[in-house]
Amino acid sequence: MRSIILIAPPAAGKGTQSDMLVEKYGFAHISTGDMLREVAKTDEVIKSKLENGELISDDIVFDLLQKRLISDDCKKGFILDGFPRNVNQAKRYDQIVEELGISSNVVIYLDVDKETALKRIVGRVSCPNCHRVFNDMIEEAMPKVSGKCDDCSSELIRRTDDNSETFGKRYDVYINNTAPLIDYYLEKGILHKVDSGMGKDEIFEVIEGILGGIND
Ligand SMILES: [Zn+2]
Repeated sequence: MRSIILIAPPAAGKGTQSDMLVEKYGFAHISTGDMLREVAKTDEVIKSKLENGELISDDIVFDLLQKRLISDDCKKGFILDGFPRNVNQAKRYDQIVEELGISSNVVIYLDVDKETALKRIVGRVSCPNCHRVFNDMIEEAMPKVSGKCDDCSSELIRRTDDNSETFGKRYDVYINNTAPLIDYYLEKGILHKVDSGMGKDEIFEVIEGILGGIND
């Protein structure tokens, strides 16, 4: 069984890459947030905690995760999305890896520099009529006429609440919070850094190369 931990700052394309991995290799996609929301449908205690915005303890999360990982759909492998969040959780997860006899534990860090991430998020504009997406900060994705849809000439709209400043802060907070986790996995020698400034297919090829080079 193989475990793939995906770590990425905002706008690094984590969702796209994990969808592509699920599609091609049949890995299970595990987000602890989704897992908790699913359990909350039948568990009143977790339901009320989520509704009240209370912190869910690591004990609960790990208990659920451990049960989740022995499901049939995880047999080929699974992608952990947004987990572990910190070094404590990472250490505890290492114990699970050992207990479950997971032979391949890989951490992929999708690296994206701040300027690229900012352009991807803040520059994103879309057509309210035909839903085509453009980006007025990335040359290859700009509309032919500024502010107008190439296909139907409708006025393009910006959906994000992020401006450069709020996005910049969000990105910095992410990088600062994640740095100790990155160091932890670097030291363990299982971190693979992938430059996500490339197109999605090129990024995917690099990830496949990493996974292909590790036996499970
Ligand atoms: Zn349009």
